[in-house]
This record gives sequence, C-alpha cells and structure tokens, in this order.
Amino acid sequence: MSAAPSPRLTASEATLEDLIAGRLPDEQGRYGAFGGRFVPETLMPAVVRLEEEARRALNDASFVQELDLELSEWVGRPTPLTPARRLGRSWGVTVYLKREDLTHTGAHKINNAIGQALLAKRLGASRVVAETGAGQHGVAAAAACARLGIPCTVYMGAVDAKRQAPNVDRMHRLGAEVKEVTAGDQTLRAAIDEALRDWVSDPESTYYLLGSAVGPHPYPWLVCVLQSVIGTEARVQILQQHGRLPDLAVACVGGGSNAIGLFHPLIRDEQVALLGVEAGGMGHRIGEHAATIHYGTPGVLHGAYSVLLQDQDGQIQETHSVSAGLDYPGVGPEHAFLDSVGRVTYETASDEEALAAVDECCALEGILPALESAHAMAGAKRWAARHPGSCILVGMSGRGDKDLATLMAAGGGEAT
Ligand SMILES: *Cc1c(COP(=O)(O)O)cnc(C)c1O
Repeated sequence: MSAAPSPRLTASEATLEDLIAGRLPDEQGRYGAFGGRFVPETLMPAVVRLEEEARRALNDASFVQELDLELSEWVGRPTPLTPARRLGRSWGVTVYLKREDLTHTGAHKINNAIGQALLAKRLGASRVVAETGAGQHGVAAAAACARLGIPCTVYMGAVDAKRQAPNVDRMHRLGAEVKEVTAGDQTLRAAIDEALRDWVSDPESTYYLLGSAVGPHPYPWLVCVLQSVIGTEARVQILQQHGRLPDLAVACVGGGSNAIGLFHPLIRDEQVALLGVEAGGMGHRIGEHAATIHYGTPGVLHGAYSVLLQDQDGQIQETHSVSAGLDYPGVGPEHAFLDSVGRVTYETASDEEALAAVDECCALEGILPALESAHAMAGAKRWAARHPGSCILVGMSGRGDKDLATLMAAGGGEAT
C-alpha cells in the first residue's frame, strides 16, 4: 500500500524551534515522536474534554487569578532564590537554589496539585482520584482537595504504603481515602494503573489528578504549564539578584515535573545549559537504578509513547533509587523529546553521591534537601568541577524531612 507524500510535517520531524514557538505538543499531543494519548476508547472523550477545558481555563483571567491567589496565599509563592555562598565557594562557582522545599507540604508537587484541583472544581467533578508512590503527591493532592472541598481517593501500592506509613497518616488526616493496591508490583506503577481504571469506570464525574509530567496528553503539557511557575520565577529572580542568566540550570528527573517546570521557561535562552539528573542508584544493571533516559528504550507506558525501562519483550524493569520520588521506570515525553534534539543533557547520580550531597548541603547551607533534590546537587557539583567560575541554578524540588528514616538507615550524617 503506498500513501501519497504528506505535505505536513510528520511528528518525528518536529524541531526544537517548533517547541519554542509553541507548536508542540501538536494536536495529537506529540512532542516529535513522543507523547500522544494511548488510552482506552472509553477515556478518549474525557482526555479530549480535559484538554479543551484546561486551555479555556488557562486563558480565563478569573481562573488564572484564582490560581495565583492560591499560589501566594496558600502555597507560599513566590519561593525564594537563595544564594548558596559557602557551597559555591567550595565548588569554585556561584550557586543559586530555587527553594521549592519552602512551599506548603514541602515540595514542588503542590503547584500542580492545587492547579489541577481548581480545574476539577471548574469541570464540576464530584470526586478526585490520584496515584502516589512515596506519598508526596498523595499528600499534595489530599491537601489541595481538602482546601477546595472535593472528596479525594488516593491509590498507593501496598509495598509503598508500608514503607511510607507517615504519609498514609497525613493523607488520612487531610481527609483523603487511601486505597492500597495489591496488584502488580504493588508500587507506583500499579497505583497509576488502578487510578486509570477508576477513572475509566466514571470519566464524567471523576477527575484524575496526575502527579508528574507523564501520562496521556494533555497531562504532560498541563503539568508543565502548572510547574513552569518555578522557572518563570527563577528567571526573573536570577536576573534581579545576579544580573544575568545562569550558565546552567539543573534539576532531578523522576517523571520529570520539577525539571520541566524549571527548564521550560529557559529553553529559548540558548546560553543556559540544561541538565537533568536521573537516579543512578547502585549500579548500571537492571533493577539497580531508575535512570530512564540513560538506559531506556522507546515504548508506551501509562498512556504515552516515551522512553522507559523495559526488557526485550517489553516487560517493565524493576527500578531502584534511594529516593522514592525518582523510583519510576518511565519519564515524561517532553524530556524524551528534549533529549532527542539535544537541548537538555541527562546524566545520572548514584545513591552514594546523593547521600553525600545531602550532608554537604546541610553542613554548608543549613538546608536539608530531599534525596531527590540531592541528585540535582550532585549533578551540579560534577558540572561545577568542569566549569569553574560559572553560575549554576539548582532546582531544590523539596525538603528532606520526609527522608530522615532513609538517611538514618544509610548512616553517615557526620560533618563534611
Ligand atoms: C516527587 C518528587 C520528585 C520527582 O518527581 P518529578 O515529577 O520528576 O519532579 C522530585 N523531588 C521531590 C522533592 C519529589 O517529591
């Protein structure tokens, strides 16, 4: 069968210029070859309606005003940009930290949760479902839903619920119902499957509040828009405080939401190098890491075509990271695209490097970073060694109080 040559660009021919000009994602929700909406027929009307309503809401001044008010009065925005002077001196560079750790509930996830909860309210949803891995997104979603008076059900793998009992308690206190998932791997991947299944059963009155820049279109785009407040603020702040843009912006990459939020407003600034840091875990073998872009191959997971950790039969690989928030075998399609066009470099940081970065940040700056964010710090440190005298903007995605049990189990903590 031969097809007439198409006069339009095929998706995979999309370029960085297309992204900068706002032509991506395209109508199919594609970033070049990546993205799209691979969902059951029954969900198609729901994702299409979600995209239409999200676009309408984000162009509606009253919605934007309501969101901005919640971000300032409840989330605590704008978050500071903190010069990390002693850290910078020790590395031989200038370092600024974008402090998402100072937001309500302690991580960037709240930016997305409150934005989507407002959208759920606007859509007239009678309930919200969400998935959670370590529990951070579950807590953010529960808090946002309580704030707006919407019932919230959070799916969480049974293994994760056991490992992260304090977050289960937090969700309960914030009024959410927590459903433990005993199917599949009993972790985040299974929790997303269950949340999607719940949504499929009642897509009209249920809103699915997805926690990272993954999933079927429009989620990667929507989450990017809601998290871009990080990079938009940081860009203005660093121009005010430092007088010019940084040489590098660096963030950790799990599903990719805090990284895309920091990077997106800087993509057009060619002089700013962008570095995403994945979880290198304990080694390069299957099951020892969660470095999806580094070791992954293209495939479909949770409604999108992106890069994922799979074996030759398409079976999803086991993952490992000392930081629960990075322990996911997929990554958002915009990151897969940014990697393919070379605009963002992706590296890994090991468990050991991340643990050392936690100690260093505590000792030199008086800030206990989340283990996820410590991966960004470790990547920044390595880059600093190659670029003495440069200026580095680090996305401090969250605070480390949640990680104290892990840190205690790992030992260390002695003064550096
Ligand atoms: C969940 C989490 C991450 C990873 O998620 P992304 O979607 O990749 O940002 C990173 N940092 C913190 C503090 C988190 O809680």
